Amino acid sequence: MVSKSALRCGFGLESLEFGNPFARSTNNTKMECLVEIACLDLEGVLVPEIWIAFAEKTGIEALRATTRDIPDYDVLMKQRLRILDEHGLKLADIQAVIATLKPLDGAVEFVNWLRERFQVVILSDTFYEFSQPLMRQLGFPTLLCHRLITDETDRVVSYQLRQKDPKRQSVLAFKSLYYRVIAAGDSYNDTSMLGEADQGILFHAPDNVIREFPQFPAVHTFEALKQEFIKASNRSLSL
Ligand SMILES: [Mg+2]
Repeated sequence: MVSKSALRCGFGLESLEFGNPFARSTNNTKMECLVEIACLDLEGVLVPEIWIAFAEKTGIEALRATTRDIPDYDVLMKQRLRILDEHGLKLADIQAVIATLKPLDGAVEFVNWLRERFQVVILSDTFYEFSQPLMRQLGFPTLLCHRLITDETDRVVSYQLRQKDPKRQSVLAFKSLYYRVIAAGDSYNDTSMLGEADQGILFHAPDNVIREFPQFPAVHTFEALKQEFIKASNRSLSL
């Protein structure tokens, strides 16, 4: 009988009926999934929290508010866009400030390490237009996130979320393609992604998140995160 993970991966399973998760192999060999996807959160994992760093750079204190202060994301975003307007900040001005931000220490090296061993996809609740300068510094790995809507004067007028619960939906989609998924993130908006993945890892998470989600290993350095990916993989990887 093939392993459960091989069934999920579907690699080399000519004899299986793919639509049936209880199908059996006729040849008794254990087939491992050779392609695993690493899903990473962006802010707090590879780059600083963009809105907070932006607030610090511009000195606009009101932009420091997060979902902890205003739990309704829609209300929060509308407030942010209003503040940008009040300061006359157009998208190009915002990108110029974000371009002065740097990925977290060790993040570039970590992403390069990971991309040699996994297919890497970044699942983020940021916007393409904001993340662009930071993604450039990371070598533009695949990023699935949301979009900002600008008018003809480059003013940010609105935003469009990709879908509901987008990180978990992405993991579900990869699993439906029979990939094995290992995911890492730092906060509440990552936990459904971590739960859906074959293995979830908390990285740089605050104590309250670590306490609430003891089922996930929690690490704080890129070296330790590499070790967690090696442990979570079903292949024999080394540092
Ligand atoms: Mg984060």
